[in-house]
Amino acid sequence: MEYSKLVEIYEQLNRTTKRLEKTHIIAEFLKDINAEETEYVMLLLEGRVFPSYDAREIGVASRLMLKSLSTATGIPTDRIEDEWRKLGDLGLVAESIVKTKKQATLHSAKLNVKKVFGNIRKLAELEGQGTVERKTQLIAELLTSAKPLESKYIVKTILGEMRIGVGEGAMRDAVVWAFFGDKIGIKYVKEGNDVQIEDRETYSKYADAVQSAYDAANEFAVVAKAAKSKGLDGLKHIEMHIGIPIKVMLSLKVDTIEEGFETVGKPAAVEFKYDGFRIQAHKDEKGSIRLFTRRLEDVTRQFPDAVDFIRKNVKGKNFIIDSEAVGYDRKTGKYLPFQNISQRIKRKYEIERMARDFPVEVNVFDVIYYDGKNMISEPFESRRKLLEKIIRQEPKKIVLSRFIKTSDKKEIEKFFEDAFEAGNEGLMFKSLHAPYKPGARVGHMVKFKAIMETLDLVIVAAEWGEGKRSKWLSSYQIACTDEDGNLLEIGRASTGLKEKEEEGLSFMEMTKRLKPLITSEKGKEVKVKPKIMIEVGYEEIQKSSSYSSGFALRFPRIIGLREDRGPEQASTLDYVKKLYEGQKKS
Ligand code: AMP
Repeated sequence: MEYSKLVEIYEQLNRTTKRLEKTHIIAEFLKDINAEETEYVMLLLEGRVFPSYDAREIGVASRLMLKSLSTATGIPTDRIEDEWRKLGDLGLVAESIVKTKKQATLHSAKLNVKKVFGNIRKLAELEGQGTVERKTQLIAELLTSAKPLESKYIVKTILGEMRIGVGEGAMRDAVVWAFFGDKIGIKYVKEGNDVQIEDRETYSKYADAVQSAYDAANEFAVVAKAAKSKGLDGLKHIEMHIGIPIKVMLSLKVDTIEEGFETVGKPAAVEFKYDGFRIQAHKDEKGSIRLFTRRLEDVTRQFPDAVDFIRKNVKGKNFIIDSEAVGYDRKTGKYLPFQNISQRIKRKYEIERMARDFPVEVNVFDVIYYDGKNMISEPFESRRKLLEKIIRQEPKKIVLSRFIKTSDKKEIEKFFEDAFEAGNEGLMFKSLHAPYKPGARVGHMVKFKAIMETLDLVIVAAEWGEGKRSKWLSSYQIACTDEDGNLLEIGRASTGLKEKEEEGLSFMEMTKRLKPLITSEKGKEVKVKPKIMIEVGYEEIQKSSSYSSGFALRFPRIIGLREDRGPEQASTLDYVKKLYEGQKKS
């Protein structure tokens, strides 16, 4: 397929903000693509070249892009920089300078999707000496053949700045409309932006099947291919693979023990809620173990200690288990809050030392796959029983999550105190009969916490400080997301960071992390790629017309980085609303 065809779709998607129209555009496009193209196109539509669980990064910052643009067009970097300042976006700069250049040279070759995808992927694979040169060449090679609009999207894809509003929800619906649309009698009506569905019940059946297939495979290419060639049956047979993470099951929140019972039923399974971070551990038949975070990032290298505990203490040929790794104090044995171990997650060096200084205990609470069998449809109680058989517990290494089965409020109150005493956040209530629902925030498990909920927000902009803080980006605009993953601002935060590095997360550290992510600068204000996640506490959530979320935080305070989460895991607007409503009640 020619890349220009995909670019035309990007343009159409850019022209509308309406989710249904976007879905329709993608669905129509998907009907015509073949299996090989599906591989590239499904990722490129979301502005990426690797699936979300793949840890590889393209690794091209604005500087390198400027250089590549200069190499491709022969225009000096400082002139391109002037243009950048004017237009504020390197994609637009590429479009504009390639246009000028093309008029002069009339050179034009045809680019196909495979070539664009291939070159961008190669960028992530280069390492060592000469990397910058090789990267520049790979990008310049694309840009010299690209038409102006094509160069805009090539640059945006490489920089990870597509923002055409195509999230998981739209992709999922587009797959349903494209491949099952005629079975359900689906019709998109442009006037009024409406969709008519003849058979709603069948629609839900297909939508659920597509969603479940995606939760297991984590790649729309796999889902679209199965749907196209084998229909519903194909979707049902998408199996999980050891080594490819599946989305984790998420929890809802309750404010009282009664509400906990109401949601999960009586008797309930009640467990300690550990304040660590999620680890999904996979072991294959060869004995190789891999660990993934909740955002499906591979952290095997960072946690050799956890790998070792799992290898020695969990029986089984192959499995996928779900757990929480929690930091603890070697002296007192007490659990420590997540922030104490967060620095281990992205660590590249001195990993052994980190494991010694910041030890973790793995608390296993679920099993998703065991000895060749998919366990997700088994009731939770059976999965827990299986865990009890296969885990040899060794405190401060690997244990089962503390668990009681009860209908008694008093017993839960006592258990809650024990949990708190041991340094935990609260309790989880789980339904004994429920299946494991990957990716879903359904009421199969709910959290019950003692302290004020914090929010996980993404930094979208920042401001240079004043006086002695002038070297630092010292105030941060933070955002939550809507259901399509669009970012919605919810306030500004600067309290909580330290001026001295020894004291904890400092302005200097934050500046170091944000600087390479800057996409435009105006006065003191910089916009940044939405990558850095922070945990934010506050006094109160208030309604506000100053921010696009419609809410603001009173006295926000930064608790720390959330290295285990990405913007896809940011707190959602629905969650913010729920917390806001909850405040009114109490
Ligand atoms: P939250 O991050 O506040 O939405 O709470 C849900 C998270 O609690 C899960 O994603 C897990 O990482 C963590 N967690 C801690 N203890 C447990 C447990 N016993 N069962 C399930 N999740 C737990």
